Amino acid sequence: MKYEDYYTWQEDVPGFGSEAQEKLRNSTALVSRVGGLGGPLALSLAAAGVGRIILAHGGELRPDDLNRQILMTHEGLGSARHVQAAETLRRFNRDLEIESMGQNVSEENIAGLVERADIVFSCAPLFEERLLMNREAMSQGKFFVDGAMCSMEGHVLAVDPGKSACLGCLVKAPPAYWKRRFPVIGAVSAMIAQIAALEGIKLLTRFSEPAVDRMIHVDAQWMRMKKVRLVRDKDCHHCSGIKS
Ligand SMILES: [Zn+2]
Repeated sequence: MKYEDYYTWQEDVPGFGSEAQEKLRNSTALVSRVGGLGGPLALSLAAAGVGRIILAHGGELRPDDLNRQILMTHEGLGSARHVQAAETLRRFNRDLEIESMGQNVSEENIAGLVERADIVFSCAPLFEERLLMNREAMSQGKFFVDGAMCSMEGHVLAVDPGKSACLGCLVKAPPAYWKRRFPVIGAVSAMIAQIAALEGIKLLTRFSEPAVDRMIHVDAQWMRMKKVRLVRDKDCHHCSGIKS
């Protein structure tokens, strides 16, 4: 099988075509982390034919991860999550180049990780990590997509650096109320993941209209979706130095 044999159905989407497919093939995506949100997101990037994926995710698989971390299985309990996630993605897409590391993003590793990527998918539960990824993506002029959820709500923010509002324009510091553990139904985190994956595909390919300068908000309790208009902060510490 050749690479192009796999993507004929999506190339048929009006406006997509072989040109967008070739852009995906030549793209590298950094995904951190690969839990309930990053896992389904990485799977959709692999399915769409993104050429290279870098996964950053620390820790070992626990039983209570399996309500949402769909790249993992029961056989993997107790072993490193990034290894299992990479294996699942490799089995799914043999053309995919994949690099995985058993650490979450940090001040020490973020610059090198973002340097090797065209787009950064922020799927981390903590604001510290999300803001770190946003800052570095803005500083290196890389596309950035942030996905987050809690209970029955979630949001996605897509950023075209220097052209649209970034996470730093909205959040100046990690909020004190936010806790590491929060309620999650896997179907809700997977839904937010798919919106984030699609917005990233739009940014990478310039296909369709990415929802930049708008935060997509999903209320899964009542199945409502809305877009909240954003304004770039001219004094933002992350993006104000970038020329538009
Ligand atoms: Zn900003």
